[in-house]
Amino acid sequence: ATTTKPPPLPSPLRFSKFFQSNMRILVTGGAGFIGSHLVDKLMENEKNEVIVADNFFTGSKDNLRKWIGHPRFELIRHDVTEQLLIEVDQIYHLACPASPIFYKYNPVKTIKTNVIGTLNMLGLAKRVGARILLTSTSEVYGDPLVHPQPESYWGNVNPIGVRSCYDEGKRVAETLMFDYHRQHGIEIRIARIFNTYGPRMNIDDGRVVSNFIAQALRGEPLTVQVPGTQTRSFCFVSDMVDGLIRLMEGEHTGPINIGNPGEFTMLELAETVKELINPAVEIKMVENTPDDPRQRKPDITKAKELLGWEPKVKLRDGLPLMEEDFRLRLGVPKKN
Ligand code: NAD
Ligand code: UDP
Ligand code: UDP
Repeated sequence: ATTTKPPPLPSPLRFSKFFQSNMRILVTGGAGFIGSHLVDKLMENEKNEVIVADNFFTGSKDNLRKWIGHPRFELIRHDVTEQLLIEVDQIYHLACPASPIFYKYNPVKTIKTNVIGTLNMLGLAKRVGARILLTSTSEVYGDPLVHPQPESYWGNVNPIGVRSCYDEGKRVAETLMFDYHRQHGIEIRIARIFNTYGPRMNIDDGRVVSNFIAQALRGEPLTVQVPGTQTRSFCFVSDMVDGLIRLMEGEHTGPINIGNPGEFTMLELAETVKELINPAVEIKMVENTPDDPRQRKPDITKAKELLGWEPKVKLRDGLPLMEEDFRLRLGVPKKN
């Protein structure tokens, strides 16, 4: 008997080109803060099918409520430290707790997520010929000795500190990305994300913007960690998502800084939250945690030149949008 052999599979196997017309996109960590906003944006395009893989450590189904049951959407409970066998065209690899209290909670798990998780997603990208974007972090610059930080700066990171599981984990993840790119020809994109804020942040995740807004709404003192002169630069989440999509769709591997260069001291941030949300609250100085970077501000020349991207939302405009979401979730009615 004769058997008809199937035609050979194209290599690299580009799933959408041969089997369907939609773009199939995996978002790891898609139930989290940035991931769920990214999913919202990707789902707006009717040609996109979105698969979220998340272990729900810091994310929640609630963030994806409006997509559950949608024909172009799938949600998988999956831990990226385990193998994942699916067929996709693009991978946005975000899975990793981002807030210090969560990533320090189980540091060994954090480093596994960064290293083994990224290795697995690269193995998947290699198997199916997908393009993969890693959300790295400004923490790769550590406590920076260069200010503002350009991508060419190699950083000042403590390899054995309490933040190292995250900082060094992301540095290894970046190394893996470039090694798979050079050795296996994988198409990679690396975003170095600077502090991002917006609706859906975990209310009690300990990050400064969510802390201050929740404290202001509860009428509690705003806890500024000493010395209060340390700086951060805050990017509103819609700007962040636009930057990530531009990077994925563009021609540059990166790493590219995505962040808002507007720089504030933590005392200035507290004053601004107080003025905008609740002028009656106190500002209280409290103890800091080890290895807290003293200053941080992105140099976004590359993002502007290579991606045509820059943030649009100023801190004073973004904070009220987040306030609205926090009021709803905390059950604090709007003032008249
Ligand atoms: P988040 O904690 O809200 O989201 C992370 C998501 O990953 C959550 O849904 C969580 O459940 C999931 N996750 C964690 N470990 C996992 C694992 N092992 N397997 C599967 N899923 C896992 O954080 P975010 O602020 O949305 O951050 C998203 C990405 O952006 C992270 O990679 C983070 O390092 C990076 N980043 C964020 C910021 C920021 O300011 N938010 C700054 C720099 C970098
Ligand atoms: N991997 C995965 N999904 C895939 C292909 C690979 O999760 O579709 C994981 C696999 O478990 C492996 C890792 O990715 O541990 C790296 O894969 P690669 O093929 O690069 O290396 P190898 O399997 O040869 O160690
Ligand atoms: N911070 C603060 N009060 C808080 C939480 C944080 O003053 O209630 C400070 C913290 O010391 C750091 C900055 O805010 O200097 C940003 O901290 P966050 O944990 O939000 O992010 P990261 O340190 O990762 O940039």
